[in-house]
Amino acid sequence: MQYISTRGQAPKIGFCDVLLAGLARDGGLYVPETWPKLSESTGGAAVRSAKNSAAASYAQKAASIMSPFVGAEIDQQIFEKLCTEAYSTFRHPEVAPLVEIGPNEYLLELFHGPTLAFKDVALQLVGKLFDHVLTQRNERVMIVGATSGDTGGAAFDGVASCRNVDIVMLYPNNRVSDVQRRQMTTLTAPNVHAVAVDGTFDDCQDLVKAMFNDQKFRDANQLSAVNSINWVRVMAQVVYYITAIEKLGRSAVFSVPTGNFGNVLAGWIAKQMGAQIEGFVVASNTNDILTRFFESKQMVANEVVPTLSPSMDIQVSSNFERLLFETNNRDGAETAKQLTDFRATGKLDVVASAYQKWFEGVFVGRRCNDEQTLATMQDVYKQSAMLIDPHTAVGLSAARQSAGVDYPKDMPMITLATAHPAKFPDAVRRATGQTPKLPEHLADLMSRPERSVSLPNDLGAVQAFVASCRK
Ligand SMILES: *Cc1c(COP(=O)(O)O)cnc(C)c1O
Repeated sequence: MQYISTRGQAPKIGFCDVLLAGLARDGGLYVPETWPKLSESTGGAAVRSAKNSAAASYAQKAASIMSPFVGAEIDQQIFEKLCTEAYSTFRHPEVAPLVEIGPNEYLLELFHGPTLAFKDVALQLVGKLFDHVLTQRNERVMIVGATSGDTGGAAFDGVASCRNVDIVMLYPNNRVSDVQRRQMTTLTAPNVHAVAVDGTFDDCQDLVKAMFNDQKFRDANQLSAVNSINWVRVMAQVVYYITAIEKLGRSAVFSVPTGNFGNVLAGWIAKQMGAQIEGFVVASNTNDILTRFFESKQMVANEVVPTLSPSMDIQVSSNFERLLFETNNRDGAETAKQLTDFRATGKLDVVASAYQKWFEGVFVGRRCNDEQTLATMQDVYKQSAMLIDPHTAVGLSAARQSAGVDYPKDMPMITLATAHPAKFPDAVRRATGQTPKLPEHLADLMSRPERSVSLPNDLGAVQAFVASCRK
């Protein structure tokens, strides 16, 4: 399998290069040259022959579903071993259990990984893959990234045991939650470095972009990225859509709490591959650029407002570019032009015929403000004594708005539960009066010693720090 860039100007490369590169040199995102189809050998027969524990079988299914994307670059047995190692860190034997909460209403729990957010599903595997590929090539990389909360901890946990990876994550000082900060600052691994930047998340992201655009610095420090535009993260998320449909035994709609569009894109890929998915409810909080797009066929950027579901407080959904590339019949030049214009004008139109072909009947957008988020959390608690996190609540509210309106009432609706309630205790307490407990492995998180560096919002200072972290 070869990969091409959505902007059409970067050379084709294979899976391992895509893993390490993150972003293409032309500024585009990598996509596979073709979408493979699920068959007996990928997700069918191999799945049925898995006879170990439930966790081993998730890993085995994952390996067979993803194998066409990896191609011949990693031996299938080794790849299966890496998947097994990655998913052995999950606290639930099924890794991504499907829980029925009402008539035709399900949660797909994706928060049983080490850092309590769905990002672990991809980043645990990414860590194992980095270690494997870099050891084989005898190379060392420096991962740099910006985080508004969940990505930092999940990325650290994924790569902390990698022998050939150093990682620096920039986060906005005083603007991430205590749990999120502590998941980055309490690790003792010498190769992970949390940096509190005196600025906003956007400032952090600009610093990272500037480091990548400085070719000399990028090459001298072997910079690499694991943010949500890295193809391998999207690929790993395709798996649970397929296993969920398999468990349910019939087709369903997925409601996906959405920020960068990575998770919902993974669902769309599962559908392209042949999974029985009716469609998607794209769930947004007050930052509803996608909902407005699905209503008006035009994307118009607004200011970001803070909400109770901070991991979705995003203005521009970077992974949308991969779908846009499809709507342009994979014309990279056209895609690049649209995105350049979008940056200049804040507006992007999709022509009616392309919209009809790619979006209609597949995606609906729904929004949920903070009040509705709290009401949904309260409602679920009253109904089933279950605590859900605010991101999951946005997804569930959207699913409930959509059921019986966009889809028949008897159609199963699966909402992705993207974070553990204990990651967002303040919102949970406000909604239910209950304080969610951290799982045992994090029970003493709030009393562990912290280690982090504070830096000004200054490229020179950050570059000097990154260079000093290289082994
Ligand atoms: C990152 C995140 C999201 C948004 O996912 P995208 O792939 O960016 O759309 C939703 N919920 C939680 C808890 C997250 O951490």
